[in-house]
This record gives sequence, structure tokens and C-alpha cells, in this order.
Amino acid sequence: MILVLRADLAPDAPEVARVVALAESFPDITTQLHTIRGATRSVTEIHLHGATGVIPTAPFEEFEVVEKVVRITERFRAIGRHGGQVDAPGFEYNGIHLSQDTLHLFPGVCAVDTRENLEETFALLARHGIATSRAGVYKPRTSPYDFQGLGAACLPFVFELAGKYGIRIVAMEVTRESHIDEIQRALRESGYATGVMLQIGTRNAQNFELLKAVGQQTELPVLFKRGMGITLEESLNACEYVASGGNHRIVFCLRGVKTHLGDPHRNLVDFAHVPVVKRLTRLPVCIDPSHSVGRRTAGPDGLLDIFHVTAQAVVAGANLVLFDLHPRPEEARCDGPQALLPDELPALLEDVAIVRRAYEERVRVRRAGSEAA
Ligand code: PEP
Ligand code: MN
Repeated sequence: MILVLRADLAPDAPEVARVVALAESFPDITTQLHTIRGATRSVTEIHLHGATGVIPTAPFEEFEVVEKVVRITERFRAIGRHGGQVDAPGFEYNGIHLSQDTLHLFPGVCAVDTRENLEETFALLARHGIATSRAGVYKPRTSPYDFQGLGAACLPFVFELAGKYGIRIVAMEVTRESHIDEIQRALRESGYATGVMLQIGTRNAQNFELLKAVGQQTELPVLFKRGMGITLEESLNACEYVASGGNHRIVFCLRGVKTHLGDPHRNLVDFAHVPVVKRLTRLPVCIDPSHSVGRRTAGPDGLLDIFHVTAQAVVAGANLVLFDLHPRPEEARCDGPQALLPDELPALLEDVAIVRRAYEERVRVRRAGSEAA
């Protein structure tokens, strides 16, 4: 059961404690407070765990601070929409608002290699007014002989350069718990020059201890990449591990699934799941066209496959686009063949703007149609 409290109520308000006390007076019921901070308002919810089926709703509805009592019918307790009964306000992090209604691009290097290449990348983004990026530092590689990332040693210059070019969020994969501490320490030492969204890679989609670790800290949001060989439901349950730990600032990222049926692309593009994830959860949905397609081939129309799949997801309402870009892909130590070139960024931005307008128009026409009906 979820008790949705009146908007903008402080979670430590005395009325909240009274509602919690009533909930916990029922046998074997425990509670967890969740505050979701959106751009314009914040909502606190009290989640009741245990045998809530036998608890009446009326005593809670009598509290003036309780806006709504929601009986949970779906499996995804913390991230679910529960049949549309709970809002999806998204969240704010380091001045950037991410939700199911917004759109942000996160171009950047797959793996940080040199300071010069990273500086060129961030400078390019700054010229295009982009304040969100990606930069891999801890790389999970298929072969132990491949480049494993520069690790903690490069964090000081990554954060310094991000700050210099006004990058507010850098998506960065972590593969073990200690990486979270290393990132938090380096951010602090940089004077919080930027922000980091902790990326859980597809290979760790069911690393439950890592999921618990990113969920038990609330300083940094989480970008969860769907497992490449598991069902969507299993990936959503993985996000539930993060949220049930207390961290609700989660983005769900589609990145393709592993099967030869997607050949010649690196993975079978799964962006048809954009509206599905938006319907089942309150999470903003990201797509990663680079790791899905894995190559820089173009159609006879001159548009790169990466542009086409991005367009397919944005026209369906995707909220973030995470993609590889490198000033010198031939020098990239990871995934150079799928990186966009700096010269290609303006065309992608133009293309994304066209399809985003189309998405907004589709929603407007649909809403007008259902109001008229
Ligand atoms: C990445 O984004 O760098 C990455 C390794 O992606 P994935 O986990 O989706 O393969
Ligand atoms: Mn990569």
C-alpha cells in the first residue's frame, strides 16, 4: 500500500510521523518514506510493507495530509505506476530535470582516454549548449586483455573539465561498490564541479549486491541499462532493487538485446519498449543507439543507422539519448567504430529536434481526439 501525501509536505513534518505510527500499529507492517523531488514540486509517499491486504484504507484517508491511498496491484512496488494512480514527476539533479516528459542528449566518449580528447568533446558539447554527457572510466570488457579504463586516476581531470565546460551530469559506469566511494570522494574534492549519474551496465543488470549499493546511497542518481539477455520484467525488478534501497532517482536505459537476429547490428534494437517502460514505471526512459547499432553504417538516404534508431525512439517519447562521440575515433580505446564524429553532431541535433516536434504533435493530436470523443 502506498500513502501519497499532499505535495510539498516536509517528510519530517509531525503529521507524517502520526500517519507512520498508525501504519506501524498494524501487525508486522513496516514503512519506508520516499520523497520524489520534481522540478516544481516534491511528493512524499509512505510505502507500507507486509500483509497490507487486510488493512482498511479509511483511517488513513481521514488524515488531512494524506492525498491518496493506493492499493498496489502490480509487482513493481517502488517504481511502478500502479495503474496510473501515482504520478511520474521525474527528478531534478544538479540543475537538470529528468522525467518522462523531458528530452536530454548525453553524447560523450565510451571510455576516457586522454585529457585532450575529453576536453575537445566537452568543448564541442558546450558550443552546442549541451550540459549532459557520458564518460566511461571503469570499463567492463569482454576480454581481460582489452583496455579496462583509466579508473579513479582520471576522475580529477574528468570533473575539472566537466566543470570548465558547464557539464552538469556525466553518466559513468561503476562495476563494483568501491567505485561509488571513489566517485563521491573525487566529486567532493573537485568542489562538486559537475554531477555524476552512476551507470549500471548491461553486464551487471542482475548484480544484486551492486544494485543494492547504488540504491542505498541517495547522493547520485542511477542510469540502469537493461540486461541484454534477460526479460524486460527481470530488468525492471533489478531497478526495484535500487528503488527499494531508498534511491528513487533512476533512469531506465534501453540498449538493445543480444541475439544474432539483430545482425548486422551489434544488438537487436529494442526501442519499441520505450512506451512500455513509460507505462509500467515512473522512470524516465533513455536509449543508447550506439551500443544497440554498434557501427557507423548509413542507409541509402544518407542517414546513419544510429540516426534512424534514435529517431524511432524519440518519436515514441524517449527522454534521454546516451551515445558515443569521439573527436578521433581511430584513437578511441573502446568502441571507436560506433562513435559519432564531431561534424555529425549538428545533423543529429537537427534530426532529433524534428522527431521530437513530431512526437509532441502526435501527443497533442491524440489528446485533442480523446477530449473530443
Ligand atoms: C557503455 O555504455 O559504455 C556500455 C558498456 O554499455 P552496455 O552496458 O549497455 O554494454
Ligand atoms: Mn562502449
